[in-house]
Amino acid sequence: MKKLVIVVPAYNEEESLPKSLSVLSDVLQQMIDAKKIDSESKLLVVNDGSKDKTWSIVVDASKKNPLISGINFSRNFGHQNAVIGGLTAARPYGDVFITIDADLQDDVNAIPKMIDQYLNGYDVVYGVRSARATDTRFKRWTAEAFYKLMNKIGVEMIPDAADFRLTSGRVVDELLQYKERNLFLRGIVPKIGFPSTKVFYARKERELGESKYPLRKMLALAWNGITSFSVAPMHFVLTLGIFTTLISFGMMVYSAIQYFMGHVIAGWSSIMVSIWFLGGIQLIGISVIGEYLGKVFNETKGRPRFIIQDNLMDDQN
Ligand code: UDP
Ligand code: MG
Repeated sequence: MKKLVIVVPAYNEEESLPKSLSVLSDVLQQMIDAKKIDSESKLLVVNDGSKDKTWSIVVDASKKNPLISGINFSRNFGHQNAVIGGLTAARPYGDVFITIDADLQDDVNAIPKMIDQYLNGYDVVYGVRSARATDTRFKRWTAEAFYKLMNKIGVEMIPDAADFRLTSGRVVDELLQYKERNLFLRGIVPKIGFPSTKVFYARKERELGESKYPLRKMLALAWNGITSFSVAPMHFVLTLGIFTTLISFGMMVYSAIQYFMGHVIAGWSSIMVSIWFLGGIQLIGISVIGEYLGKVFNETKGRPRFIIQDNLMDDQN
């Protein structure tokens, strides 16, 4: 039978973790009892440098329940790195992997359905939100605009699929070959290929604790998604540059005609407009180049994406 490892990134989740651990380990136990998965399956909590009691909750739970295990990062590395760190640590122990947030916003009833699809031969099963009723109108609107934009610039993404998904061992092996520091898993996983399908569920409101994804982090993730996968912004700036150059040619002809017709040109306003306009365009262009240069700088350093301080998996096995 196949060993499942459920990877749960957790950052300051002392409020929601006790409940999540019991709910998720119950789900695991039920699937073990139903002989769907191997009895050595695990719940692997990734403590992403929490400043609260998250890690001690995991350590205590792992002593009481052999299904529960954890790894402890040396500091906060961010959600995407917590997921990839969890999968890296889990890979030697498991055959199939599910990633889910610690706050139980995602419906745990989708987990057995994902496993069914895996047993049907699918390598990737995306958890897709069928209803976004719990999101604010603003979040829904920005999410929709984001998916549209990503599609336009050629990044294949599954709309309304977050990081709640199943991946088979061979997909995780391929995923771990993607060494980028600026991780955007939602864009990478569809690129890997293999047979994939979706399981739909209704996403709930966060019951305990508060979101670790304020608007600032959400925008940073979206920007990362665009710039890590596409040079479309550079193409856009090029088009803009060509367009403004054409306009400036038109201006040249216009002012030459005015000159030969003997008109005195009170050029102050047009000069001011051009200076500001071109200055703005140039700044945008430079900053876009700088953005990619910064990415290259970060990637070439090749620093570790996460650092594991403690690993309960090692002690337990
Ligand atoms: N998380 C993490 N590291 C971070 C921020 C968040 O591991 O730096 C975890 C968090 O504990 C949760 C998941 O990532 O399990 C998603 O975060 P959250 O629920 O706050 O995001 P939202 O659901 O509001 O988008
Ligand atoms: Mg959440």
